[in-house]
Amino acid sequence: MSGWLKIVGLGPGPQAQITPEVAAALAEATDIVGYGPYVARIPPRAGLALHASDNREELDRARHALALAAGGRRVVVVSSGDPGVFAMAAALFEALEAGSAEWRRLDIAVLPGITAMLAAAARAGAPLGHDFCAINLSDNLKPWALIERRLRLAAEADFAMAFYNPRSKARPQGFARALEVLRACCGGARPVLFARAVGSQAERLTLTTLAEARPEMADMRTVVILGSSQTRIIARPAGPILYTPRSVPG
Ligand code: SAH
Repeated sequence: MSGWLKIVGLGPGPQAQITPEVAAALAEATDIVGYGPYVARIPPRAGLALHASDNREELDRARHALALAAGGRRVVVVSSGDPGVFAMAAALFEALEAGSAEWRRLDIAVLPGITAMLAAAARAGAPLGHDFCAINLSDNLKPWALIERRLRLAAEADFAMAFYNPRSKARPQGFARALEVLRACCGGARPVLFARAVGSQAERLTLTTLAEARPEMADMRTVVILGSSQTRIIARPAGPILYTPRSVPG
């Protein structure tokens, strides 16, 4: 059995932000498996089968990829950003853990990519320069009460925070509620960055405050970064820099 499985991150969008090891895996693959828009980023070539899935469950996609690799194919599972951040790597391992014992003999590797919050932070300055956390605001895979609890505790611990999946058509209310919780915990002056479609032609960065932040500023292509109490803004003619200093006064 010469098949293998690599779970890779394609980064936020630009070709230059795909790592050389991911590019090499893509070049050696016989099969690409993933959510449609991510598979669409892979240029077709002879001998490469593209398996784009739409609404199919992540776990189905993971089992499909494992079965292909067990059949001797060289399979690359693609995620945007990093595959370990709210993406396919964990889904793949859930399927592996629950699946056929034979799958555990497979050659499996996770190849990292630049996750959205890091691409967004770099565009804005260094808002994640001190301690921070990342929270997925979708309640598809966890109860909303847990999200609110994590928001409150992260605010109490004075982390800068990055929010993935802030708002979708199916979940219009959650982000509004998250903003209310954060305002109650952090006050209105905290800087908030809405970074939409980072790295694409449609990129848009909006720097505002918690008091001014509106739910409509976010959609599913937006990652939101909230500063800690230490996060600052440097005003410049070329545009503001948002950063969190390396130290907290004792
Ligand atoms: N694995 C991905 C995250 C998948 S969850 C990663 O590491 O980046 C999908 C969420 O990621 C989106 O709802 C959005 O919050 C964020 N996201 C992904 N790509 C983005 C981009 N180019 N610009 C801004 N946010 C992005």
